[in-house]
Amino acid sequence: MEAAQKIKENRPVRVRMAPSPTGALHIGTARMTLFDFLFARHMGGTFILRIEDTDPERSKTEHEIGLIEGLQWLGIDWDEGPTYENGKLGSRGNFGPYRDSERVLSHKKYIQKFLEEGKAYQCYCTKEELEARREESESRSVPFRYPGTCRNLTAPPASKTPQTIRLKMPNETITFDDMVRGKVSVEPTSLDDFAIARADGSPLYNFAVAIDDYEMEITHVIRGEDHISNTPKQIAVYRALGVEPPIFGHTPLILNLDRSKMSKRTGDTALADYREKGYLPEAIVNFLALMGWHPTDDQEILTLDELIIKFDIARVQKAGAVFDQAKLDWLNREYIKKMDVETLTHLVAPFLKAAGIEAPNMLIEKVVAAGQSRATTLEDFAEQGSFFFKLPEYEAELLVWKNMERVTVSPMLQAIETEFSTLSGDDFVKERLSSALEKLSLGRKKGEVFWPLRVALSGLAASPDPVEIMTVIGKEETIKRIKIAIKKISQ
Ligand code: GLU
Repeated sequence: MEAAQKIKENRPVRVRMAPSPTGALHIGTARMTLFDFLFARHMGGTFILRIEDTDPERSKTEHEIGLIEGLQWLGIDWDEGPTYENGKLGSRGNFGPYRDSERVLSHKKYIQKFLEEGKAYQCYCTKEELEARREESESRSVPFRYPGTCRNLTAPPASKTPQTIRLKMPNETITFDDMVRGKVSVEPTSLDDFAIARADGSPLYNFAVAIDDYEMEITHVIRGEDHISNTPKQIAVYRALGVEPPIFGHTPLILNLDRSKMSKRTGDTALADYREKGYLPEAIVNFLALMGWHPTDDQEILTLDELIIKFDIARVQKAGAVFDQAKLDWLNREYIKKMDVETLTHLVAPFLKAAGIEAPNMLIEKVVAAGQSRATTLEDFAEQGSFFFKLPEYEAELLVWKNMERVTVSPMLQAIETEFSTLSGDDFVKERLSSALEKLSLGRKKGEVFWPLRVALSGLAASPDPVEIMTVIGKEETIKRIKIAIKKISQ
């Protein structure tokens, strides 16, 4: 598909993403934006963010801000588009405004032009009349198409008012070379004169989007395949303008593991859900990029810069892209493992705070270092590591290892306590603690010593190594917890 990627008429590459601010930033929108961004950057072009707030009832400023902040958090930046700095919305770039609602005057100018040139016409058919035609088509099991009732009127019908403005569709096949799907052809029999404006003259999506792309000199439109049926309509607008359309690419949408469509009902769909759970932006970007695309060398861990170098739109698969939670978890773990402890501590702190855990930074840093190789999310440090900060809660039975006799636990813990009491606070380091435990393990199975100690310290069956826990919490706290355990098991 090399040819489809070629730079249009040697014009500089300009790629836009045009999300609608009608809800929380969807994970699918984030992925689509990433693909647009990667394509633009890979081609050395300009990346533009345009807010498509054509639906005045559903579009909200808070969602626009959420979009901007979410994308910024992912590390996606744009050369032109809206900005949100110091609590204020603004914009940058020379092709503004970058909010669709502020471009209406321009849309109206073209509507007027099309009417004057006979490329568009007033339609007087009422909703009810069209509804009746639709029902009639459905009863014959044929898809409804506007029959062109008002296309050739020489004068307005008596006692009727204009309802919409429609574009005269050309009676010819519309073909385009899709960067992902290859050649797409749509026969005129499945197209009709679609409405480009409402009765009040306000523009509708398929018209407004084409005008905006034209005026912003967009060369490549890469978006979800749910828009593929809109593309012939938009190409018709370009034909009416007498200009070449941009190059289009339609990527598959995200599916659940069972290949059903990803919706709010079947799981988390907002980017914020993943952020709140403690997924790292680097891991999410890596994950989103690999959903429906992979580089030729099958490298799996890729930074944003590597993605920019390797991204190739022609390698985006046509089949649906499956959201594999296990893969996201694996990637997040890998990124957590690689992170330096100081940065990780900084990121984990708010999660501890949210869980009601207040602790000095030094302690947090030790806990983070101890849990780093096991954590899947930042939240895990608060959920699985809370015992570091407060006394663990557990049932006495948990102290009993496998099929050991319950009565053996208390003397074991007492022996451990005695051994540790001989160590000074400064001796509470890995080597000394390990050799003390080895001494205790002589002639025994390791679990007989380590299991009750682990539970006494953490209240968990699976936790970091008890030695590691003790070096973090120190001598006093260790002895205190062992004593509590002895009391518990002796009751
Ligand atoms: N606003 C549309 C959406 O959020 C995108 C339209 C387009 O990319 O042309 O799905």
